[in-house]
Amino acid sequence: MAGSHGLTAHDVTVQFPRPGRQPDVTVLRKVSLAVAPGEVVALLGPSGSGKSTLLRAIAGLERLTHGDVRWDGSSVVATPVHLRGFGLMFQDGQLFPHRDVAGNVAYGLTFPTPDDGANPAGARPSRAEKAERVAELLELVGLPGFEGRSVSTLSGGERQRVALARSLAPGPRLLMLDEPLSALDRSLRERLTGDVARILRDAGTTALYVTHDHSEARVVADRVGVLLAGELAQIGTEEELWGAPASAGVAEFLGT
Ligand code: ADP
Ligand code: MG
Repeated sequence: MAGSHGLTAHDVTVQFPRPGRQPDVTVLRKVSLAVAPGEVVALLGPSGSGKSTLLRAIAGLERLTHGDVRWDGSSVVATPVHLRGFGLMFQDGQLFPHRDVAGNVAYGLTFPTPDDGANPAGARPSRAEKAERVAELLELVGLPGFEGRSVSTLSGGERQRVALARSLAPGPRLLMLDEPLSALDRSLRERLTGDVARILRDAGTTALYVTHDHSEARVVADRVGVLLAGELAQIGTEEELWGAPASAGVAEFLGT
């Protein structure tokens, strides 16, 4: 798929060794998918289906046994994790407790990105530029004026908003979110889901969004991929998936 834009994963297979003479365990089997620029694709699947492993493999944190990961048609398999220009956000946000909100968000600005001239690798923004960008990001995630707040005074939902702002700060060409709302209680999660969808749209972010929550996937994503036992069983729009599940396994998982 040379010439294609955005992310493409080709036949991604990940196996892990097992002790002794046991054969390797195959956690991902020939997973192929594409995420176009500006598109949000959700990966939906039960616990243990390989969702986090797929994100880690795309990020470069897990070695591919077979297959390829490409950006705009060029393989990134040999590119170190921090130079891929991909961001990752986790369930627990992983904020620095000793930095205030601005310090947490600004942390993301100090990383080199392989982006076009706007932020060439290694360029350090000035203090004023940083402050302006932090304010912009906090506005985007619905926390204007939170710069000086201590992280320890934030609610769970506010923390995840800060984590999202930090992930967006370096302008990743792909943002991968691994169950970013699953640690929050249900009512808060439902409210935040719509906000996250809007934030990703407003930022024009290209994103892979992992969740095991069906309604979250439908709200956030343009297309949804269903991962079952390490295989991409189907990928399509909400209408395609729920209207015409490709297999009995998909239908059962979606509850149609
Ligand atoms: P999900 O995120 O969908 O819950 P994971 O990607 O975390 O699933 O895990 C998929 C499967 O791979 C699980 O059975 C898990 O135990 C296994 N697995 C994940 N990482 C490793 C590893 N480093 N070594 C061996 N098995 C692993
Ligand atoms: Mg997981």
